[in-house]
Amino acid sequence: MNFLHEFLHQEVPKSGKTMPAYYRRALFISEVILAAYFLVSVVLLRFAAGQWLWLPAVVLAATVACLLCIDRLGPRLNLLLYAAIIWVWLAWFVHRYGWGVGSPNILAPILSLAFFNIYEPPLGKIGYFLALVVFRVALFAYTLRHPVLGTLEHPVNLIFQVVNSVVPLLILAVNYVLFSSSIQASERLLTINNQELHKEAGTDPLTGLPNRRALLDVIEVYRRNNPDEQFGIAIADIDFFKKVNDTYGHNCGDYTLKELSRLFLEQSAGKYTVCRWGGEEFCFFLPGLNLDQAGAVMQDVHAAVRKMPLRFGEIDYSITITIGVEEYDFRSTTEAILDRADRKLYMGKVHGRDQVVI
Ligand code: GH3
Ligand code: MG
Ligand code: MG
Repeated sequence: MNFLHEFLHQEVPKSGKTMPAYYRRALFISEVILAAYFLVSVVLLRFAAGQWLWLPAVVLAATVACLLCIDRLGPRLNLLLYAAIIWVWLAWFVHRYGWGVGSPNILAPILSLAFFNIYEPPLGKIGYFLALVVFRVALFAYTLRHPVLGTLEHPVNLIFQVVNSVVPLLILAVNYVLFSSSIQASERLLTINNQELHKEAGTDPLTGLPNRRALLDVIEVYRRNNPDEQFGIAIADIDFFKKVNDTYGHNCGDYTLKELSRLFLEQSAGKYTVCRWGGEEFCFFLPGLNLDQAGAVMQDVHAAVRKMPLRFGEIDYSITITIGVEEYDFRSTTEAILDRADRKLYMGKVHGRDQVVI
């Protein structure tokens, strides 16, 4: 019953004259088909009655007017007029020729247009539903008490049967194509946007590396899926990075961070995930590796950084990093492991920098 609760409490935008493109198209096509239906009826009834009848011509004119005023009336008023035209037509037709040729089928598309109108409040939709049911039943009850005024002879009778079957189903089919493809298109767009937002939220804009939050997510997922696996965590910090900024400028500092990130990714070869932990610090997650193995990987990274040639404008320079490495001991929280890695990094800084503390 959850869906009923959601339906009744749905938030409805303030009713305006604008409508979503798919809805306008559905209304427009429905009214064009209805106008064609009335045009056929005008001609058929001319044959059947032997004279022009005024009501089919009036409903045809009203439908064309409704069609031309689609943007002026807005979706709610337009649909109300559309429904009113059909009600008047049916009351007249059933009163004259009875129930036999399936004319009440034309009521069904009103419901689809009412329920897919984003401006129609839930009570309005229920109102349409009840009005259609009551109208249909009342009309049938009327036919039981009142004899028809005339009968439709073959082949007009047959043509009406066919038209009354095809037209309502055609309008419904067109509506469903438009409504379902619009829902699917918005869902696709929403999913893509969400994915992009999610990716952006987890990416460091300067280096393009995952950020702290994204790496913590990776670690959490790994721990949940591999509770019996070991892993290593390392934190690296550029030595005397402030000097790079102070000596060569902030842009050169940014360039250094980007180049270093590129090197980290090049060296990774699937052995670790690296993120920008903050400032000039980077954090490495090494799944499936114990302390010795993680230490060896980080020794290679450390050596590669020392050898990395850096050139910013005319300036050639190099940097070193200090790294603290820790392993998962099957007990600690991620926070505690990170804390121990950070303390090792600090030890490395205190004891001369440019080293890996395992
Ligand atoms: P240590 O060897 O002790 O780590 O010395 P350090 O100079 O690297 O450390 P410190 O914490 O004194 O300075 C870090 C500097 O990193 C200061 C800050 O301006 C710089 N920094 C942090 N983020 C960025 C950034 O995004 N771009 C640039 N260019 N510099 C940054
Ligand atoms: Mg630092
Ligand atoms: Mg530093």
